[in-house]
Amino acid sequence: MENPDFLLEKIIFSTFGGEEKIIEYHLVAAGNLNQAIYLKTAQQEYFLKTNHQNNPDIYKRESEGLDWTRNHCSLHVPKVIVTGTYGDTQYLLMEWIRASRSHPDYSEKLAEGLAELHMCTRKKFGLDVNNYISVLPQNNEPEMDWTSFFIQKRLEPMIQRAFYEGYISEKSLKEFRMIYPKLNDFFPHEKPSLLHGDLWSGNVMVNSLGFPSLIDPAVYFGHREMDLAFSKLFGGFDPSFYKAYQEVFPLDPGFEQRVEVYNLYPLLVHLNLFGTTYLSGITRVVKKLLR
Ligand code: ADP
Repeated sequence: MENPDFLLEKIIFSTFGGEEKIIEYHLVAAGNLNQAIYLKTAQQEYFLKTNHQNNPDIYKRESEGLDWTRNHCSLHVPKVIVTGTYGDTQYLLMEWIRASRSHPDYSEKLAEGLAELHMCTRKKFGLDVNNYISVLPQNNEPEMDWTSFFIQKRLEPMIQRAFYEGYISEKSLKEFRMIYPKLNDFFPHEKPSLLHGDLWSGNVMVNSLGFPSLIDPAVYFGHREMDLAFSKLFGGFDPSFYKAYQEVFPLDPGFEQRVEVYNLYPLLVHLNLFGTTYLSGITRVVKKLLR
């Protein structure tokens, strides 16, 4: 890899043409998927994401997802300055979110903003383009029916990938597919809602005003319960968030019983990204559905 000092300088030069100079930078997060960097010039602070994956449009899709989110709800969503490629490095430069302590109305604001996003509807589930959830491709080919979309465009591609990667056996693959008929008439009928698509607590930041900023979306039109279920996967949001959401945009009864079924998708995503630690959670739900 190129010396990071020079790479950052080149990215800033190609974006601002010599008008801004880096005066400080440091690594914020360095996962196996993306590198996140804080960058400061005399004028501004920036957040830079880079990766060396083989998905040349990944940051363009993320940038479009941020636009969808910003344009359809009143929550703060960081502005993208530029996406580009330098050598084998793809990058996304955006507004820096200065984190602070949360405002007392934080959860209510988050609930209202998310409900606004969910009130943006379309005829079909899906989106005009495919995008990514983290670094994995997400198939958004439209479907009229949520159950078909959930099975064919969400569960199947991820279970096929898990089988291909050797994370699950042939027997588990067969068993997993046996749950599909059980999903007929399982979900309440709702119009397709614009979703954040990757709504766990790490993708909601407390901004400098103490209010929520949404980051890292994997947008598409889907069942809104999908976002709410996802939010419960790793610890969940504050109870006041769910209460406020129910007041603004009530859910059908029985949501709590459906949560683990929606969450088969993010669990499969995690299985494919991080390995078999996530397998037991999937197997448990499959066994329960087949009982
Ligand atoms: P990844 O796709 O690798 O998960 P994220 O976009 O979630 O990357 O960013 C990684 C971390 O960097 C986040 O958990 C968050 O703490 C921080 N972060 C993300 N976007 C910003 C931003 N615009 N400003 C400040 N910090 C950010």
